[in-house]
Amino acid sequence: MQKQVTIIGSGIVGAVTAFYLSADPTLNVTIYDEGIGQATKNSAGIISPWLSKRRNQRWYELAKAGAALYPEIVQTVQMGYSVYQQAGTIVTRHDPTDLDALYKLATQRRQAAPQIGEIEKLTATEVQERIPLLTAPEPGVFISGGARVDGDKFAHNLLKYAEKRNLVRHKGKVTLGDQGQLLTQHGQQAYDTLILAVGAWLKPLLLPMGIVADVRPQKGQLIELQLPESWGDDVPVLMPEGERDFIPFTRSKLVVGATHENDMGYDLQESALVEDDLFASGVKLDSRLTKDQISQVKVGTRAYTRDFAPFFGPLPDNPHILVASGLGSSGLTTGPMIGKLLADYVQTGQQTDWDRYQLPISTYLDDAD
Ligand SMILES: Cc1cc2nc3c(=O)[nH]c(=O)nc-3n(C[C@H](O)[C@H](O)[C@H](O)COP(=O)(O)OP(=O)(O)OC[C@H]3O[C@@H](n4cnc5c(N)ncnc54)[C@H](O)[C@@H]3O)c2cc1C
Repeated sequence: MQKQVTIIGSGIVGAVTAFYLSADPTLNVTIYDEGIGQATKNSAGIISPWLSKRRNQRWYELAKAGAALYPEIVQTVQMGYSVYQQAGTIVTRHDPTDLDALYKLATQRRQAAPQIGEIEKLTATEVQERIPLLTAPEPGVFISGGARVDGDKFAHNLLKYAEKRNLVRHKGKVTLGDQGQLLTQHGQQAYDTLILAVGAWLKPLLLPMGIVADVRPQKGQLIELQLPESWGDDVPVLMPEGERDFIPFTRSKLVVGATHENDMGYDLQESALVEDDLFASGVKLDSRLTKDQISQVKVGTRAYTRDFAPFFGPLPDNPHILVASGLGSSGLTTGPMIGKLLADYVQTGQQTDWDRYQLPISTYLDDAD
């Protein structure tokens, strides 16, 4: 008998989970998505966790593992450079001492993370040679393993791939009953396993079950520019000190972002002030940018927890309902590993090594009373 696995949310977590589950012909997989405010669709797309200053070792293990999964997923689904490309990242520092420290950190971290790839210390001129768009380059450290991904296209390709196997997709918002009943616009739907990959919306979704998830929404905005010139596929991503990130996508699309706006709830309004601020940051790097080159302002809602760490797995009192949330500003990086672990759990019931990647899930879930 086929098992019914229903996923709510088709961002990176839902899409990667569906991708891995699509290899199992004994499963019927269904995804529902409301399609509003999705972080994945509106993200900047940097995959480069290795030089992060974050001290949370579990987050680092998860991010490292997620970044390492991209090449094999991309190859299986045959995605092109406009979706994912390991063109490298350059992290700049004004101060030569800081630059040396960063280079040392990269070299140390490569011992346990060969995915970092080649590491080079670059002068400002060399940085400009790698990213010709820059008019005010600074010295930096280049790592060849860094990548950029178009989150929207990546998730879309995974879902298309899974649809050819065992996935059925529905658009629309779902709610839960007090016992975890799945309520859709076509009535209550049965499931064997329910996966709530709903990002910033986990808290309202779980409340009817008397569970309070430690998840807060954070607004993020970025600008996308279409430039008159085009460049090759191998231009690295720039993570400049003190400015917004600068992501040259194939072949004339430039992304500058992103903001981290707390206390804005689920607001999805574009803000002219923020657009100006993002543009000003872009102009500091490439003084030739003009405002009429802005083709889009994107707004998404990230989920974050009190310790900024993601969490995932079965609810403590209901092993048939799995949740994943709190991926914050690095969810494109951690998301693939979380999706893989959730799919493994559906198939094996095992949580092998999960404590390497997260605190117990009960840390982030409370009773409503
Ligand atoms: C501006 C911005 C820039 C970013 N840049 C980067 C970056 O450079 N690198 C990086 O690693 N990460 C980045 N991130 C973070 C990353 O995008 C997110 O952490 C990640 O995409 C979250 O994925 P998710 O699957 O958990 O949630 P989401 O992608 O938000 O998907 C959740 C989906 O669930 C749906 N949903 C919610 N409730 C319901 C319901 N009741 N019924 C039906 N559907 C529902 C939503 O509509 C949504 O489509 C960025 C995020 C933003 C906003």
